Amino acid sequence: MIRITVLGGAAACPNPGQGCSAYLLETDGHRLLLDCGPDTLATLQEHIAIDELSGIIISHLHADHALDLVPLRYGLKYMPGLARRSVPLWLPPDGRAFLAGLATVLAHGEVAEDFFEEVFHITEYAPDQPLQLGELTIRFRPTRHYIPCWACRIETAGRAIVYLADTGPFPELIPFTEKADLVICEGTYRDVPAGLPIELRGHLTAREAGTLAAAAGAGRLLLTHFWATLGVQALRQEAEDAFGRPVDVAAPGLVIEIP
Ligand SMILES: [Zn+2]
Ligand SMILES: [Zn+2]
Repeated sequence: MIRITVLGGAAACPNPGQGCSAYLLETDGHRLLLDCGPDTLATLQEHIAIDELSGIIISHLHADHALDLVPLRYGLKYMPGLARRSVPLWLPPDGRAFLAGLATVLAHGEVAEDFFEEVFHITEYAPDQPLQLGELTIRFRPTRHYIPCWACRIETAGRAIVYLADTGPFPELIPFTEKADLVICEGTYRDVPAGLPIELRGHLTAREAGTLAAAAGAGRLLLTHFWATLGVQALRQEAEDAFGRPVDVAAPGLVIEIP
């Protein structure tokens, strides 16, 4: 069984009562955090303690997907009562340099070189190679975004979950998502932005999320990475119209279980 707990789901700025991108993926052997966007650690701790994480995977280095690594670092270092004070962290290529840059402005009297390294076992994943974590096989695929960004497909025991992170539309997303039991797909826009060529778009509409999930034959669609000001019900409706079935819409604490 795979359980996904939504910790956020806002686009680049938190929605009322909802932080940005972060999802807890649990199996018998793993408690894995997919992205670590702002305002999501409080929700995480309603489910597990921070030292119960078995690892963190970051899709790309935009702040709305990575910024809560900062308070997580402080928690792992200073929070009383933890049994463990380090967590494996898989970053995209160049992620270590990104964190080193953050540390130089945040360290304030602490040693910048150790700031993140002392609480995170940091590895930069190789996106062209599968990452094997016990029984989990994780494959990456570059998305179409404003900076390098990787979607991931997580498979175990005949089940597959695809997290598309941030992406514009392009055909290769469909085979990557093929027959996933659950696709976590962004719906940043309500309407296609006028005057923006498709090859320059780094995000999807909610309708495109539904179309993609349908074309891939996905079992379920979790619509996420949206601006609440666009109207959550309208975004849901557009995604459902295209998917042809009910859609889950990201909300903090929402749990989806794939048996
Ligand atoms: Zn992004
Ligand atoms: Zn984003």
